[in-house]
Amino acid sequence: MRLTVLGSGSCVAEQTHRASSAYILEASNGKLLIDTGTGSLRNLVKAGFDVKDVDKVFSTHRHPDHVSDLIPLIQDKVVRSFSEDESDLEVYGPEGHRDYVFDRMRHEMVDTPEVFQEKFGFDLKVNELQAYNSFEKFSLEALEALHGPESFSCLSLKFCFENKTIVFTGDTDFNPELVEFAGEADLLVTDCSRPSGVDVEGHMNVDECAELAEKADVGKLVLSHLYPEAESHDLKKQASQKFEGEIVVAEDLLQIDV
Ligand SMILES: [Zn+2]
Ligand SMILES: [Zn+2]
Repeated sequence: MRLTVLGSGSCVAEQTHRASSAYILEASNGKLLIDTGTGSLRNLVKAGFDVKDVDKVFSTHRHPDHVSDLIPLIQDKVVRSFSEDESDLEVYGPEGHRDYVFDRMRHEMVDTPEVFQEKFGFDLKVNELQAYNSFEKFSLEALEALHGPESFSCLSLKFCFENKTIVFTGDTDFNPELVEFAGEADLLVTDCSRPSGVDVEGHMNVDECAELAEKADVGKLVLSHLYPEAESHDLKKQASQKFEGEIVVAEDLLQIDV
């Protein structure tokens, strides 16, 4: 199993070397896209993937730096479908995701997304994630993250395959519930928005990411969602003060074997 970082940055446009949040997970049952932040679709192709290879898209939440390339991905498939067979696409996200995606579709592409398949020949299914979700060959657990106002849902996601577990914190403040949720994961991909000693509401700094990794006893810690303020520090050194396992500072197109 392999994770490719398609977007290791934040919402800050000046980070031209980093797209906003996105990852692709290659597993035996296909290719799973986790978040589709700004610029990540281009990185998907740069990393050697084809848009039509993506089977499922999971959105942690609907801030633009996590979801803005979702409709462009669908549009790419629509245009291809005029000249070739196009594979179906399943999209998953927090509560309200179906209304959100279909509203965007109505404004940006098609007036009746409910009959998408009749128009374009491939199916688009949009579903809302539950606390526990079962798929063929893997399961997915979702935990409400500490990010944004109470009415705004953001999820931490745990993918469990036959013998590997991968956790994405999503955007979140340090959440004590994540310690058990991420317990003994093989890979923990974190929201590391700030360097050591700098707090910000709704995100973690590197100390909190490392503390989470240490308490959860994960195999490998990935520091991602890097704001300019974070990436200008030696984050690996800072994280190693609290976490003794392997630490990876994310960069776009980086591949991590799990
Ligand atoms: Zn966010
Ligand atoms: Zn974000």
